[in-house]
Amino acid sequence: MRAVGIDLGTTNSEVAIVENGQARVLPGEDGDLILPSCVGFSDTGKLLVGREALRQYAAAPERTVKSIKRWMGTDHKTTLGAGVEETREYLPHEISAIILRALKQRAENALGETVTQAVITVPAYFTDAQRQATKTAGEIAGFEVLQIINEPTAAALAYDLRSDDTERVLVYDLGGGTFDVSVVEITGEVTEVLASHGNNRLGGDDFDRLLQLHLASMFRKEHGVDVPDDAVTQARLLRAAEELKMEMSTHAFATVREAFLGSKGKTALHLEAEVARADFEQLIRPLLAQTLEAIDRALADANLKPDQIDRIILVGGSTRIPLVQQMIEQHLGQVPTDGIQPDLCVALGAALQAGVLVGESVDAILVDVIPHSLGIAAAVNTPVGIMPGYFSVIIPRNSVVPVSRSQVYSTLLDNQEAVEIEVFQGENAIAEENVPLGSFKVENLPPKPAGSIQVEVHFDFDLSGILTVTTTEKGKGQQGTLVVSNTSIQRLSSHELKQARAELEALFESDETIEISSQVVTDDAKISPDLAALLARAQQVIESLEEEQAEELQNLLDQIDNAMARDSAELPQLQEELDDFLYYASTDEEE
Ligand code: AMP
Repeated sequence: MRAVGIDLGTTNSEVAIVENGQARVLPGEDGDLILPSCVGFSDTGKLLVGREALRQYAAAPERTVKSIKRWMGTDHKTTLGAGVEETREYLPHEISAIILRALKQRAENALGETVTQAVITVPAYFTDAQRQATKTAGEIAGFEVLQIINEPTAAALAYDLRSDDTERVLVYDLGGGTFDVSVVEITGEVTEVLASHGNNRLGGDDFDRLLQLHLASMFRKEHGVDVPDDAVTQARLLRAAEELKMEMSTHAFATVREAFLGSKGKTALHLEAEVARADFEQLIRPLLAQTLEAIDRALADANLKPDQIDRIILVGGSTRIPLVQQMIEQHLGQVPTDGIQPDLCVALGAALQAGVLVGESVDAILVDVIPHSLGIAAAVNTPVGIMPGYFSVIIPRNSVVPVSRSQVYSTLLDNQEAVEIEVFQGENAIAEENVPLGSFKVENLPPKPAGSIQVEVHFDFDLSGILTVTTTEKGKGQQGTLVVSNTSIQRLSSHELKQARAELEALFESDETIEISSQVVTDDAKISPDLAALLARAQQVIESLEEEQAEELQNLLDQIDNAMARDSAELPQLQEELDDFLYYASTDEEE
């Protein structure tokens, strides 16, 4: 049985496999190696995952969800409907399960065999709850999750940096909405994450917004009026900015053309401008400077100087921007290694690890470290008396996993009946300043003087980064176990898991069969469901548009009506135009 490696990303996901000792990313039926991490339901109740879902995001944001990874490990609910009556709330791990299930299907189609085992990657900074949520998502999707591994570790594995000497690798990962930098040490077959820093609200989306403002100011200079401040026009400008940004990764100048962006009296105004890469670079430089600071912090944490780094690896679509590479090179005095596409290397590394775990001939073994210290809130004796609420670390950060540690605590009061065990992760000396993971009580303690009852707290942190806490009352053997439960995500019982899997399977099976009445605005039987969905959406959107844009949309709808009546070959082109129009009209509802 072969096992796959999965990069479950905020913006995009991939699935890869090892064949003959080599990892490769598996394509979908459309040949695309990347599956956008986007899920939705079509108007007819069909489940959509990936690019299809992303496409309808424009027409139906209320039936589509993106960037669910930001919410992993929380109980944030997303309402998604297969139709009015089928609307349901989903937790983040349930949405992720749908993405993983689609990747499973992609792998099975590509390989022609069932795939049940997977290694899934998560950012090095992911908390215990986020890792657990990821694992649960994998299980619901029908996988046995062999291991949850850190993304930078996977990236390093993909570069196959194993040698007999110790190599220290800096992994710089800049995606659409997140940034991480990690320092990884590889010795022979052992890989450790020494330190990791980042900003989960920094990425290519910010560059797009800066460029959008720049374009607006060019427009103002040229025409003496502002680009209209309505959401539709601004969204068009943002989309144009992203295209321009990508163009400038390979060209020193690029041209943007957006027609009918505004008006002056009765005259329509267009934006047509050439932007120099150098100007774009000026805009994003301060944000990139922040990423350099994070590099410095990671190096300091790992106790390393820049010249002790043997190699730099770039991960994430935004590292294609030449200035990113230049600034890193200047800062660290070293040219980043390239050779693997930055958006695929995490999945490839995960596949290598999966191969190792099922005994393929790939000889790399992983050893990860825990990203945050783990401990409990405890009172400490100070010169001014007993101070409660201190963070007593049981497993320090950067301990190699798996790791088990115990510490013994005593009662604080005479005749104390119960002890509250509050578990946190983080680095602050004040417990409350750290991330709470859950709490539980050890109760029915015998009446005894303060300090004479001892409770041992045992932490067990496993290879998948999941923490189990048990307590034992000394001398009595009384046990308590903590369900890590600061979120709604817990390990599911086998019954719950079975049920969740069955529900998910039903969703996938119902793809073709369920036809929930759609709000199609025409009764033409030849109309495709996609066009029907767009038309329905257009009817909703038109109500909220400014006069000029409403007219533009109505014009387009009339042309479509006309084309349908004539069965014209122009229909696909017009449908695309409508899709684009609605995309601009609704991207403001995104966040
Ligand atoms: P990822 O999250 O790794 O898939 O990266 C997605 C981000 O990479 C988005 O912000 C894209 O706009 C950005 N991106 C993709 N290709 C390029 C490119 N050629 N130049 C600049 N940014 C890019």
